[in-house]
Order: sequence, then C-alpha cells, then structure tokens
Amino acid sequence: MKVSIMSYSSSLSELLESIGAKEGSKLLVESEGRSFAGILMPHHDFSGEDIIVIKLKSGYNVGIRIGQDSAVKVLEHPEPKVKNKAPAERKEGLPNISLIATGGTIASNVEYRTGAVRPALSVSDLADSAPEMRGAANISGRALFSIFSENMNAEHWQELAAAVAEEINNGADGVVISHGTDTMGYTAAALSFMLGDVPKPVVIVGAQRSTDRPSSDAPSNLTAAVRFCVKGGKAGVFVVMHEALGDDSFAVHIGTRVRKMHTSRRDAFQSINVRPAALLDKDGNMKLTSEGRNIASGKAAARTKMERSTILLQYYPGMDPSLFENAMMKSKGIVIAGSGLGHVNEEMIRLIKKACDNGSLVVMTSQCLGGRTNLNVYKTGRDILSAGAIAVLDMLPETAYVKLMWALANADNVDEAKRLMMTPLAGEMSDRRSVDV
Ligand code: ASP
Repeated sequence: MKVSIMSYSSSLSELLESIGAKEGSKLLVESEGRSFAGILMPHHDFSGEDIIVIKLKSGYNVGIRIGQDSAVKVLEHPEPKVKNKAPAERKEGLPNISLIATGGTIASNVEYRTGAVRPALSVSDLADSAPEMRGAANISGRALFSIFSENMNAEHWQELAAAVAEEINNGADGVVISHGTDTMGYTAAALSFMLGDVPKPVVIVGAQRSTDRPSSDAPSNLTAAVRFCVKGGKAGVFVVMHEALGDDSFAVHIGTRVRKMHTSRRDAFQSINVRPAALLDKDGNMKLTSEGRNIASGKAAARTKMERSTILLQYYPGMDPSLFENAMMKSKGIVIAGSGLGHVNEEMIRLIKKACDNGSLVVMTSQCLGGRTNLNVYKTGRDILSAGAIAVLDMLPETAYVKLMWALANADNVDEAKRLMMTPLAGEMSDRRSVDV
C-alpha cells in the first residue's frame, strides 16, 4: 500500500518521496513562472489534490498548484530533534521555578519548522526561548500536555492542579504554567479554587504569537511571569500577559478575575472589576497594586473534585426554554449570564424554578461583565430569586461556572454549595466597588 506523505494525494506523495522531502524539509517550488521557498506543511483538507502547502519565512502559508511544468526540490532537510538536551546549569542562590508546559501557541514553534499540527515545544526549548528568564531563576520543568487550550476540560485542570501541588511540595519556589490563551481564564479559575491557599505563586502565561515569529510575545511574557514569581512576594494563582501592545509592560491578573478580551492583540487579557495585582516593566521593575496573600512556607494541597454536570448559558432576547429544558433538568449546576443586573425573560424564570425544584443550583451572573448583579432592583430579579436562583455579585460568568463545578463536588449538599458560591474564596467576587474599575 502506498504511504501518503503528510496527507498529500498519491501523486504528490510520490513526487515528494522521489525527492526525499519529509516533514520539516525546506523546499524550493517553481510553478507557473513563480518560485517560493519554505517549509513543507501538511496537506490541507480544503486545498485541491494538486496543491503543495509551504510556510514562507514570513510565517504565512501558501498553496502552490503543481502541474506538468512545476519543479520541486529540497533545499534543506530538517535538523534532527535533539533529545535529552543537557539541562541548564544550576546557579546557587537563585530561586527554583518549575515550568509546566501544557501546549498552546506559546509552545508552537516546532509546528512552523516541521509542519506538525500540534503544539510541540519541549520545556527546555521553551525555557531557552527566554534567556532573561534563565537569568532570574533556576528553571526546571515538565511537559504535562501538548494541546491547544480549547481542548482542555475539567480532567486537565485536575491533573494540572495535582502537578502544581507536587512541584511546590518538592521544593519549587513558584510554578509557571505555559498555556493556550483561549481558555486560560477558565484554567486560572479552576486552579484558584482547587489549590485554595497555595503558599507560593502559580503563574499561567501564554502568547498571542508563536515563538518563531519576530513579533512573538512568548519570551517577554515568560520572563515577566518568572520575575513576578521571584520578586512579587505574593502567593496565589495569577495570569501574566502583555499589558500593552509593546514589549515593555506586563500585567499580573488575579486568576479568577481575568478575561481574554480580544482575539489577537498582544494586550488581549484584562482584569475585570478589579485592578491587576501588579504591573511589570521590561526591566522587571514591579508595582504591586493589590494586597493579596504573601508567600509562606508550608505544603500545597489540591482539592480537585469537580461536578461535571454543570452548564453555562448566555441569555438572549427570545430565549426559548423548550430548547434548554433538557439540558437544565439534567444538570446539577447551571450558570446563566443574564442581561443587565442578571435578568432573563419570564418563560426562562419558569424553567429556572423547575430546575431549582428539581434540586439544581442556578447561579445568575451578568453578561455586562463590568459591575455587579443585583436581583433586588427589578421585579424580574425578584422573581428570579423567588424561583430559587442566587446571584454572585461581580463574579465573571466563566469563573462562576468553574466555581460551581468545584462547589457542588466539594460540598455535602446544595445548601452548602450555595453558601460556598456566595463566599469569596479566591478573590473572585466583591461587594465593594473600587473607585477606578
Ligand atoms: N487556540 C490556542 C489555544 O488556546 C490559542 C493560543 O494558544 O493562544 O491554545
């Protein structure tokens, strides 16, 4: 049977095989009077059978039609991957930071060179990509997953929380987690609840541009994350990302209060309803802006149980309860991002009552994100309260979703879970409005 090379058609596979091209080969492709040099990428499902895809130096992919008159040759073969690279030398007196890699764009540079379609940068490659980070701490680490964060679920959070606790209990002064940006806020919230009063800093960091792009934000974000671990003096779960478009300022966000607010900008992450916990400049100068817990001695413990039958819904005008009845009646926990102060229409209130009577815990948040829910202002809100739902002040909907999974699994009964939901546990809610947010 003919083996297809990187999902190419049999004729293109034959051609690639005949010139010795493989994953990661640099090709020169001449076709229809034009020539392109770049790294061979896998065949794309949406491109025709006669198209070869290569990644140009600029980072962009082009598809080139291969016809009778085209010529393809190999310019360079991929460098063999170095396995078991010697770890960087340990420097006396520097703190020990453990780097846990989980995948995402921040770890995707190998994808560009080899054409592999998954994040695959090793922990030492990642650490080497940010030499200044190595200057600030002894970095050791492990790759726990190699996935994009849209594929994360509660089991990944559980494994990650257990790994963080293990690293701290084995002597790490702080843990930096490299992570995809899409669902970073959910993971940060999950670790915040699972790790409780963790005695050291746990910092999640990502990148909007992969490491091999000149504009990559990966090295500077990693460096800022390590610097915060080393110099911040604060314990808890945080997210560190660019604060502005340039490489000169970084924000440290509280893990339960952070949201990706832009699809692609380097400063996509923002603290919602609170100020960032700290700001750092490119030289590592730091301004702490919130009090938070100080680093302490002691062990870390991970309480990782999660109730998986929990859902998160966004209310919209005209929401038809019949479309959601099945899901709501099957779920033990339901978070709704309501309109305004935390509202839904009358038909949905009837369904909320039915779900509450069925033993589910229904939690109202607001899709406004900024400000607090308040179910005491309008008749709608009061009806939602009478139906049995609770509201959770200024908690982000996704944080409420993660917390509800955690509260339902760790409480003895629904009333206890309700009490946990309404008690701030990891800086996730407050009933005081700070002047400037
Ligand atoms: N989709 C990617 C992820 O979340 C994007 C990124 O890493 O920034 O893993």
